[in-house]
Amino acid sequence: MSKRDYYEVLGVSKGASKDEIKKAYRRLSKKYHPDINKEPGADEKFKEITEAYEVLSDDQKKTQYDQFGHAGPQGFGGGGGFSGDADFGFGGFEDIFNTFFGGGTRRDPNAPRQGADLQYTMTLSFEEAVFGKETVIEIPREETCETCHGSGAKPGTSPETCSHCNGTGQLNVEQNTPFGRIVNRRVCQYCQGTGKIIKDKCTTCGGDGKVKKRKKINVKIPKGIDEGQQMRVAGEGEPGTNGGPPGDLYVVFHVQNHEFFEREGDDIYCEMPITFAQAALGDEIEVPTLYGKVKLKIPVGTQTGTTFRLRGKGVPNVRGYGTGDQHVQVKVITPTKLTEQQKQLLRDFAELSGNTPDEQHESFFDKVKRAFKS
Ligand SMILES: [Zn+2]
Ligand SMILES: [Zn+2]
Repeated sequence: MSKRDYYEVLGVSKGASKDEIKKAYRRLSKKYHPDINKEPGADEKFKEITEAYEVLSDDQKKTQYDQFGHAGPQGFGGGGGFSGDADFGFGGFEDIFNTFFGGGTRRDPNAPRQGADLQYTMTLSFEEAVFGKETVIEIPREETCETCHGSGAKPGTSPETCSHCNGTGQLNVEQNTPFGRIVNRRVCQYCQGTGKIIKDKCTTCGGDGKVKKRKKINVKIPKGIDEGQQMRVAGEGEPGTNGGPPGDLYVVFHVQNHEFFEREGDDIYCEMPITFAQAALGDEIEVPTLYGKVKLKIPVGTQTGTTFRLRGKGVPNVRGYGTGDQHVQVKVITPTKLTEQQKQLLRDFAELSGNTPDEQHESFFDKVKRAFKS
């Protein structure tokens, strides 16, 4: 199957800015995230989006892609009559890229890098989503080690530049291939690509410079959150490397259903049973709303299925654009258990009415009659 153009996948133009690419990715990844979207194919779509973003968000990969398109790395790994990766010991996408394009594609291991974004899925009750709440969430994430301040070296010592790769984090390996002799850049195995060797490792973090912690974060959830919406908590992602800024935390909301109310956008829908007598004679009934009970007038001669609107009894708009309504649909319930007296009264009623529907509905019953004849 031919691969789709990465720009097309993200729905951005070739000249799109970094910001536009990031925004498009966030929007799409939210839409197709397997935690949220259970439709068939969403998973593949999500992977496609992620792959496109990984390339287009990386300056060097983007440049290569703009120049060579998919033909570069794809053609090398998959086609061409030799069976791919194993012969060359490729580790994956990145390695294929690096090998094909020779050197210089791996980023400087000493450059500041932003920490990874984190995602946290939070389940809200129907009411919590409507009214918002303040809460504390606990997320497992990496934190900069306080003992060594992130260097990974025992206090009083410092990491040394790796002598094998001179701090670049990569080594040149010459290899014979069907294309001739090529120089293959590989991750330096002595320093694992960090460019540094730590002789005396910090005992707190074991030389990683980071420790896994459960961090408590205060989150203020706005009113009107809906299923699948997400909220960014700036700077609460993983810490950066080499002094880079931290990533962001994305809280993705899952909203539980309610046994009585249904929600569509900012509007609430519900059904209320009424008796035939109430429908025919009119009445005042009490309807539950998210804001407590409300009285609703049932006019004389109300038909089953009629919907009444309770203004402003819906969900506050998450962006502050007013509040939705509650729509109450009445259902006339036909009694199933009747006493002898009730039955007699209904027979009398039927006789008095001539056992035909009233004038207003003659046309409807005519249609029914016609349907039986045809
Ligand atoms: Zn440490
Ligand atoms: Zn090294």
